[in-house]
Parts: sequence; structure tokens; C-alpha cells
Amino acid sequence: MNAALEVRSLDVAIERIPILREVSLDVPAGSMVGLIGRNGAGKTTLMRSIMGLMPFSARRMAAAGEDLQRLSAHELARRGISYMPEDRRLIPALTVEENILLPAWANGLADAASRLRWIYERMPEVREFRDRRALQLSGGQQKLVALARALMPGRKLLLLDEPFEGVAPVLSRRLTEVIGSLRQEGMSVILSESDDTHSADLVDHVFRIERGVVTAG
Ligand code: ATP
Repeated sequence: MNAALEVRSLDVAIERIPILREVSLDVPAGSMVGLIGRNGAGKTTLMRSIMGLMPFSARRMAAAGEDLQRLSAHELARRGISYMPEDRRLIPALTVEENILLPAWANGLADAASRLRWIYERMPEVREFRDRRALQLSGGQQKLVALARALMPGRKLLLLDEPFEGVAPVLSRRLTEVIGSLRQEGMSVILSESDDTHSADLVDHVFRIERGVVTAG
């Protein structure tokens, strides 16, 4: 079976300064993989490259055998590949539900209503505050909503950039439960964290990233 994600010899430079160097990693289908590294190590840059949000060069960058370098953002969404940015990027004036539905509208996803039900089943607390505006939520609640929004298109491969960062312990436990439950759905997840605190119980494999270089284990 094809890996959910295959990265081979990825290089990224910003203004000619190398940020990622010869990065290679695999996310086997149905597995959860941790990407652990300090602030500034290159975790966000790696995720943004995979999502086609910044220029890079790579020998291979593929999801389920398909070359990611040929796919637009819409095509990624339609293939169930999604990204939860570290800084959440919710639209403050929109309600929680509108924020969650936004990727479905933007990408013309057909089954938004049933997907929304599926998301609310997993996160009943989000259903509870679905009519509130995003700006009325705490930082931790916003992380839950950002995860819910990522799950709208994210049915196969999810990239979660520091989902636990700045989240209080009770909500961290909820996030861990929700992310862990995605395994039963056969989803593949790559999850970044500055250390192993929350991801240790969740992931099958770990990659370490240090100054733009990735090593296994
Ligand atoms: P953090 O948790 O702090 O976001 P990270 O591991 O996600 O850390 P990146 O955000 O990917 O790290 O940053 C990797 C390196 O690239 C850092 O040294 C950062 O200063 C540099 N960098 C990122 N974006 C830019 C940019 N637009 N211009 C210049 N340097 C950048």
C-alpha cells in the first residue's frame, strides 16, 4: 500500500538561507507520526511545504502515491488532505459553525452537512458553542474549533501544527482523546510538538527535527 505521505529530499530556503535540508520522512497509511523539535527547528515550514504554501524543491512529495507538487489547494482538500496551523487562523467575526464550514464552501465539498454531524459527534462541546463568534472563545476552545475545521476536508491525512501549544491541561486531554479517536477512522496524522509531552501516548513513530534536519526516532 502507498504511504499516506512520502517526502524525499525536501529542501527549503528563505532568501537563500537553508531552512529545511534534505528532509525525508514517511507517514504509513493509518498511522500517527510525531514531529518533535524546538521552536524555530522548521516544523511549520515542513507542514506549509507539504500543503504547497511555500516554494521548495524535493525529489518526491507524494500522498497516497500521488505527486503533491501537481495538486492545487482545492485538489488537496478534495483528496482529504488538511492542515491545522499553529496560530489557528479562525475568522473572529464568524460563528464557530461558519468557521468549520468555511473549507467546505471554499472547496465545494459536497457532503458538508453529514461531515459536520460527524465532527459534532466527536466534539459535542464544539456543537454547544457553535453559534458563538470565534472571538468569544478562549484560546484552548479555539484550538478545538481549528481542529474541527481541519477535519471538514481532512478525511485522509491531517497535518496538525502544535495542537497542544498554549492549551490548558483539561482541554489538552480532550484534544488527545479526539486526535486518538481518528485512528479508528483510518486517518493518517502528522503532529508536531516542541517536546514529547502530549504526543508520546498518541504516535506510532517519531521524527526529530533540529535546525532543519530530520532524523527518525
Ligand atoms: P515555531 O514553533 O517557532 O513555529 P518551527 O519549528 O515551526 O517553530 P519554523 O516556523 O518552520 O519553525 O521556522 C524555521 C526557521 O525558519 C526559523 O529559524 C525561522 O526563523 C525561519 N523562518 C521561517 N519563516 C521565515 C521567513 N518568512 N523569513 C525568514 N526566516 C523564516
